[in-house]
Amino acid sequence: MKIGFIGLGNMGGPMAANLVAAGHEVAGFDLAAPMPEGVTKAGSAAEAARGAEVVITMLPNGKILRAVADEIVPAMDKGAVFADCSTVDVESARAVADQAMAAGLLAVDAPVSGGVGGATNGTLTFMAGGSEEAFAKVEPLFDIMGQKAVHCGPSGNGQAAKICNNMILGVTMIATCEAFALADKLGLDRQAMYDVVSTSSGYSWSMNAYTPAPGIGATSPADNDYKPGFAAELMLKDLRLSQQAAEAVDADTPMGLAARNLYEAFVESEGGTGKDFSAMLPRFEKRGRG
Ligand code: NAD
Repeated sequence: MKIGFIGLGNMGGPMAANLVAAGHEVAGFDLAAPMPEGVTKAGSAAEAARGAEVVITMLPNGKILRAVADEIVPAMDKGAVFADCSTVDVESARAVADQAMAAGLLAVDAPVSGGVGGATNGTLTFMAGGSEEAFAKVEPLFDIMGQKAVHCGPSGNGQAAKICNNMILGVTMIATCEAFALADKLGLDRQAMYDVVSTSSGYSWSMNAYTPAPGIGATSPADNDYKPGFAAELMLKDLRLSQQAAEAVDADTPMGLAARNLYEAFVESEGGTGKDFSAMLPRFEKRGRG
């Protein structure tokens, strides 16, 4: 397949490399990142998109996605698929899909979960919004770049699934970290705490698969001085998106709001920048109730 790939950063680079390794012809464009081996460098986003059957974007935010869409939609062939895999606000995802469909294109919003490791190993999960026809066309590419693709409904629903999942993740990570810090102060050994909770009703992905306490449970960024992993800034981005969405549809999300506020303070004024999102545990360790 002829594929255009725009945004070849930490995630997009290895995703494009996997498409090349599977035998696809990929033309890439990025403002700064180098082209992975085998990806043909295009002079502009429009040049990467021209003549492609599928154009994939992997960009930092909704504003940049909208700007890139303005450039590539007019350049794409009718019937081609615009697949955005960035994590952006639901509103931008729907606006870009409407713009693409009005121009005779198919559109899919398909954010991913699995991080840079998943992008490199081809084990991402894709959560997709768009028509059946659009999803069917890009599913074989998702199968190369990932291990699972779920069609979540019409345009924007992929982003909706992503921010709901990550709102749960942010909240459970905070709950897990504050419980470890409370256990410390109560004199409960961390290993005992893990052994109980990981097999009791408090278990979660945060506790069992990404244990935030060094030397306990699953091997995780906590065992590597909280180097990301999944950076606290990226968690904050996703929690902001979930609050933006909740405000737009008048949904009551008090725990999501509390998680957003905690990660905002952590990143902006408590040294959380550049740390994994599980570094909430050392944050709680140092604090009292005041
Ligand atoms: P990144 O910053 O490494 O990559 C983004 C790339 O987009 C950069 O190389 C940048 O130069 C390029 N870019 C920016 N504006 C551009 C433009 N106008 N035209 C062409 N290229 C442009 O970010 P990333 O970690 O690869 O994340 C990409 C997206 O994936 C984000 O939306 C992020 O939220 C999401 N995501 C990231 C992770 C992760 O663990 N890194 C996990 C899941 C989802």
